[in-house]
Parts: sequence; C-alpha cells; structure tokens
Amino acid sequence: MTWRNWAGTVAVTPAEVVTPRSVEEVAAVVRRAARDGRRVSAVGSGHSFTPVAEARDVQVRLDRLTGIVAVEPGGRVRVRAGTRLRDLSVELAAHGLGLENLGDIDVQTVAGAVSTGTHGTGARFGGLATQVVGLELVRGDGTVVRAGEGAGPPVAGAVVGLGALGVVTEVTLQCVPAFTLHAVEDTEPLAAALASLDERVATHDHYELYWFPYADRCLTKTNTRRTGPPEHPLPRWRRMLEDEVLTNGAYRAVNEAGRLRPGWVPGLNRLAARAVSRREFDDAAPRVFATSRRVRFVESEYAVPRAAVTAVLTQLRAWVDRHPEAAVQFPVEVRFAAADDRWLSTAYGRETAYVAVHQFHRSPAREYFRAFEAIALDHDGRPHWGKLHGLDAPALAARYPRFADVLALRDELDPDRVFANRYRTRVLGR
Ligand SMILES: Cc1cc2nc3c(=O)[nH]c(=O)nc-3n(C[C@H](O)[C@H](O)[C@H](O)COP(=O)(O)OP(=O)(O)OC[C@H]3O[C@@H](n4cnc5c(N)ncnc54)[C@H](O)[C@@H]3O)c2cc1C
Repeated sequence: MTWRNWAGTVAVTPAEVVTPRSVEEVAAVVRRAARDGRRVSAVGSGHSFTPVAEARDVQVRLDRLTGIVAVEPGGRVRVRAGTRLRDLSVELAAHGLGLENLGDIDVQTVAGAVSTGTHGTGARFGGLATQVVGLELVRGDGTVVRAGEGAGPPVAGAVVGLGALGVVTEVTLQCVPAFTLHAVEDTEPLAAALASLDERVATHDHYELYWFPYADRCLTKTNTRRTGPPEHPLPRWRRMLEDEVLTNGAYRAVNEAGRLRPGWVPGLNRLAARAVSRREFDDAAPRVFATSRRVRFVESEYAVPRAAVTAVLTQLRAWVDRHPEAAVQFPVEVRFAAADDRWLSTAYGRETAYVAVHQFHRSPAREYFRAFEAIALDHDGRPHWGKLHGLDAPALAARYPRFADVLALRDELDPDRVFANRYRTRVLGR
C-alpha cells in the first residue's frame, strides 16, 4: 500500500511493511533484510516534509512498540520508541512529570521527533534531542546497542540520527516536574517586536513570533513557566472556536481563496493579521505548547545564529515585497533555542534562532523557498532535517563541526548501509 507523509510531499510503496512488538523482532527484521541485501527505514508519524523516512524496501513501523517502560529516580523515563509525544505527555502527567519543552504539535513519535532535531522555542532550552540521555538501537547487522552506556556510542552522536544509524527501539528522557504555562498571545507591528527582540527572548521562557507577509503586523506568543495547577484555562468552547473553527476551518477557506486568486493574498493576510485577537490563559504545558494543525502546508526552516535573525527577516521581507507574484499565504515563524552539543542538531554549538517559511500545500512554493534558502545560507544557516531544503552532504559538512564524526559513527553502526535511502545518501553521502 502507498505510504504518504502528512504534507503529501512523499509517496512511496514499500515492498514490505513490518510492525514489530519487541526489540528482538526488530533485530530479526534487520538481520533478514541485511542478509537479503534490502534496505530498512523506520518511520514515525510521517510528519517530516523531506523524504528522510522514505522506505522502498522494508518499512518499520513502531506502532506496537509504545508506552513507558520505566520511570527511574530523578525523572529519567525509559520510553518505547514508537510512543507519540501526545500519549507520552499524558502518561508522564500521571507520574507528575513532563517534557522540558515541545514543538508546536505533539503527534510525532519520540524516535521520529528526536531523529530530525525537532525543537520548540525558548532561549534557555534545547530541542527534544537534548532531553535524551540514553537510546537503544538496532544496528545494521541486527545487533542491539545502548547509546550512553558502557561501550555504546555517545548519545550526542546517535540521537539526531536521521534513521541512518539504526532502528531506535527505546529512548531514555530526562523529564522535569510537570508545569503550567501562562500564555499571552497578541498582535503588534513587526518593527516594534523586532526592536525589542533581544530583551523579550532573554526575559521570557518561551517567546516566538509569526509575521504575516504583506502585513506590517505579527502575532507574538509569550509563555511563562509556573508551578501549581492552571487557574485560567481557556473554556472548551473558546478553544474549539478559535483553534478549530477559526485557525483550521476558516483558515482553510481563506487559503483556498488565495490559491485561486493569488492577487487577493496580500489583502487576505492583512485581514488574518487583524482577525487574531489577544488571548491570555494558562494550562498544563503540553496543552499550551502544542496546537492542532489541520490546514496542510509545506515548510522549510533554517537555524541561523541568534544574532542574524533580524537581518534574515528584513531580507526576506524585502524579497516578499518585491515578489507579489509569490503570493505567500502562511505566516513566517520565528523561534529560539539554546546552544547544544548534539552533533547533528541545528543548534549545535551556537545560540540559535529558527526562521520557518510555509506555504499552503496546494499553492506554489518553489521560488519563495529558494529565495529564503539563499538568504538563510548567507547567514550560515542550517536546514531542519525534516523540512524542505536543497543541501547535500558537502554543503552540510561545512556547516556541522562534528559531521566527520557522524560519518564515522555511521560507518561503525551501519557499514553496509542497510539504512540508506535517497535522502540520507544525499545529506550524508554514500
Ligand atoms: C504540522 C507540522 C508541525 C511541525 N512542527 C514542528 C515543530 O514545532 N518543531 C520542529 O522542530 N519540527 C516540527 N515539525 C517537523 C517534525 O517534528 C519532524 O519532521 C519529526 O521528525 C516528525 O516526526 P515523525 O514521528 O513524524 O517522524 P517521521 O517524519 O516519520 O520520521 C522522521 C525521521 O525519524 C526516523 N525515525 C522514525 N522512527 C525511528 C526509529 N524508531 N528509529 C530510527 N529512526 C526513526 C525516520 O527514519 C526519519 O529519518 C512539524 C511537522 C509538521 C507536519
């Protein structure tokens, strides 16, 4: 049967689909494929825009390898690799625990999310991969190794593995006590937000902004961590109205209109920017971090040095204004992260700002994404592994100080390239 990713940018019919129930079954699948000269690729929830998870021979789905294995003292939690982040948050809450930070959706699997360096926002916080302290994975010969233990590979090298280093069967996460987020969402002129960006990013736990192309305004989201139960969660009806009916239902109609009449897009964007209303509420952290995204889009995202973000946005805005025919329908999202030590993390070794461009999935995006990529590369950008980009291994090697170490680890864990697919070959080489 044909497998498609969420965005519809990848469609493939694997020769075989397996859904193992244990690490032993995964190991047997890999051993058999290696013997038969076939390739293996694990897939999570298919939320990458790139073909990073594409499997033509054997597709491994970990839908039956889910749930918490053990909660250890100090908040370390061993989780089966196929667990969805959403389910994990529910299970963790029952233990009084939570993930330190999350991206803006939570339907990904744990292994899928960490494998591409999935991140949220917050200048003091790293992406999900920085919360990982141990990994169990099946390597190319079918043997099992535990990263972060004994002679196993370093977690920092193995965790953002793009599926190229093995099939991850278990992830150990350093969790934190469950917390509440106080959320303030508001719109304001982009110039005002940029003028005080440094201060806002430094003083707020989780700050992000969404700029509406062709409008001077942006939506800002400022989330502050609190202990204690939520006091003012959004009423159910309001969440339903704003997050489902307006953000998803009406927004789809607006995007369809813009697709059919590209000339309307600037006006529609200005309307959308004005239609967003101020909200202030609090809730359990996972309910604030993650939203539901039902209007499909395509996306490219680059991590740039924190200090370059205003220049990137200014140049992008100039390009958008010069190219009304690009009819950019979705807001540009700007987020922040701390420097980290994960070898293939987009925030490796530097304080980072993320700039993400999106376009409605049925509208043309190529020229816009290409222009954005050129701007981001000029500022030493590194593309999100799961989002659209055009770089290959030599270009990426120059952007990652530990790239050669990743290749050496790949040679050690999968010398015969059982886990190769066309994307991994493009970005890591043969
Ligand atoms: C609507 C939407 C919102 C998003 N929001 C964010 C965001 O806020 N922040 C962000 O950083 N990204 C975001 N992303 C990107 C997304 O988080 C990543 O692409 C993530 O990798 C998807 O996880 P997945 O479970 O769908 O994995 P897939 O896309 O299915 O796979 C991703 C990679 O993980 C590998 N993999 C999966 N399971 C295993 C395993 N068991 N062992 C080894 N390798 C494995 C796959 O082979 C592949 O290489 C978003 C994507 C969408 C569509």
